[in-house]
Amino acid sequence: MPGRVKVQHKSKRIGWLRAAVLGANDGILSTASLVIGVASAHRNRGNVLIAGVAGLVAGAMSMAAGEYVSVHSQADTEKADLDLERREIESDQAGEHDELADIYVARGLEPALAKTVAEQLMAHDAVGAHARDELGIT
Ligand SMILES: [Zn+2]
Repeated sequence: MPGRVKVQHKSKRIGWLRAAVLGANDGILSTASLVIGVASAHRNRGNVLIAGVAGLVAGAMSMAAGEYVSVHSQADTEKADLDLERREIESDQAGEHDELADIYVARGLEPALAKTVAEQLMAHDAVGAHARDELGIT
């Protein structure tokens, strides 16, 4: 449609933003606690600086490793779900079709329309339709 404005929703990025905000908050608090602890034990500025830098580096590495493991475990889980779904579609096409149609009925479509939508979406991309509407994976 000419002149139509394409609106970009930003809520999909909220997971990344939340991780960054929580990570920064955690890093500031733990580094500040470390620096205060060392400063109260030693009056030496060098020791306080070294403790602060070591705390920052350790916090950043811990955050990066945690984020890496988190992202990869989610990707592994999604891949396993998709493999299972693919096998179910191969072994029981009719059952999977009914399952998808039931999902659309639960969302408010009339049974006949839900059956048609499930048929057409499964003909186009069966695994994609189940991933999106059954598993919530996009
Ligand atoms: Zn399914």
